Amino acid sequence: MFIPAFIIQRILDNFKRLVPASGLRYGSPKISRLYLGVLKTYTELFLHTQYISPGDLEKLQLLRLKNALYAASKTKWWSKRFNDAGFDAEKVRSISELKALPVIEKADVVSAEFQDLSTESIKGNQRIVIRGTSGTNGMPVRWALDKPTHFIECAAYHLRNLLVFGVPIWKDLARKPIFMINHYNVEFHHLGLLARDIRLQIDHKSDNSKKFLGERTRLYQEMNSSEPFIMFGATTNLWYFIKKLIEDGCHIRPAHIISTGYVLDKGLRTFFEEFFGCRVSSFYGSQEVPAIAFRCPQEDNVFHLNAEHLILEIVDEEGQPLPIGKMGYIVLTCLSNLVMPVLRYRLGDMGRMLDGSCDCGRTLPRFELIGRDYEFIRLKDGEKIPSYLLYTIIMQDRFLKIYQYQIRQVAEDMLHIYISPNKTWSKEDELGIKMSVQKAFRGKLSAKVIIVDKIPAIGRKHKSFVPLVE
Ligand SMILES: [Zn+2]
Repeated sequence: MFIPAFIIQRILDNFKRLVPASGLRYGSPKISRLYLGVLKTYTELFLHTQYISPGDLEKLQLLRLKNALYAASKTKWWSKRFNDAGFDAEKVRSISELKALPVIEKADVVSAEFQDLSTESIKGNQRIVIRGTSGTNGMPVRWALDKPTHFIECAAYHLRNLLVFGVPIWKDLARKPIFMINHYNVEFHHLGLLARDIRLQIDHKSDNSKKFLGERTRLYQEMNSSEPFIMFGATTNLWYFIKKLIEDGCHIRPAHIISTGYVLDKGLRTFFEEFFGCRVSSFYGSQEVPAIAFRCPQEDNVFHLNAEHLILEIVDEEGQPLPIGKMGYIVLTCLSNLVMPVLRYRLGDMGRMLDGSCDCGRTLPRFELIGRDYEFIRLKDGEKIPSYLLYTIIMQDRFLKIYQYQIRQVAEDMLHIYISPNKTWSKEDELGIKMSVQKAFRGKLSAKVIIVDKIPAIGRKHKSFVPLVE
């Protein structure tokens, strides 16, 4: 069935407004049939648009971009930027004309007045959701989005991800089958209306505690009796969770796991899949730009962009566009957020666009996610290596032996790897890590392994990589 781009745009921009904001509230005991019906329409449309032709995708994006530019021109902050750049939002006739706008960064918007970035009055506005980061990894940032886009359109991108992996998602969605493991602010999450927040005392701060065993056993039972049971969590939380389950002598049987917040390499994904006996997908998103991409079911670390509402570019340090295949900074333009527009926003992550068609058959643009822009090892010859490659080396077959770890680059040719191990750790593991580092970096990098009881948190968070300070 062929659906013209302008019809898709009409559905995406208007249909979600049928659900009143009062029906989009976290904590309501009952989810309305209207909400579920509209959500289903979006999800089914996305199952169609994942095979959209490049020409139709551009038509759809242009239609939505015009709305986003119009919204931006109504804000104080963006209208000034348009003027400064000599950019006439009303004259845009193609996606490429967007490049006339300079790339912006977190620092640009953090210094702006929150209200000046918005088309609506923010304070006490029941129709919008405000999301934000605590700033443990840099600057704190807050972003606003209207509730229908947040809880319907963005939630549907998540549901498409589940359907791509064959999860029977429509079975009892109203009973909230998604369990968010140690997820802060679940009520502000796109899946908030379909999810439950589970605080399991599973983080590294409380790993030794037997105190809550009864409470945890009850939660495990609740998870296992939920059909289907979908687990959603940050990669590190899922890893801690496995160790907790082994300690407690319990097992759970999720139908599917969604991992977030971290590059998930093949080794760790396989470990999760073997332990839990289900598939693991990755979903990529941020506070400022929602529901960015889902992992291709056929490749690790390759993502399909949710291009129905996002334009992704890769740029160099000066903000100049880079060709397909070149690694650079991820820059995003959001086409669905008309409350607080996001145009050519540099997110702080690195990646590269991939060429050619995907084996899975989906036509949505593909990219490789490489990591946060500060999570790189710098070698003497100027080469930059994403730190997640090191996690792979350290963790190889040692997932259960390591309780916590931290990598610090202390010189251009030296790493200090702090490890808090459990009882099964041996001298061979230490030697194995050292040799693997030597081999992987062809002698340009050595490692010293330092065994510690506990790795101190930096701020509220535990950091797994500390880069070389210049
Ligand atoms: Zn694919």
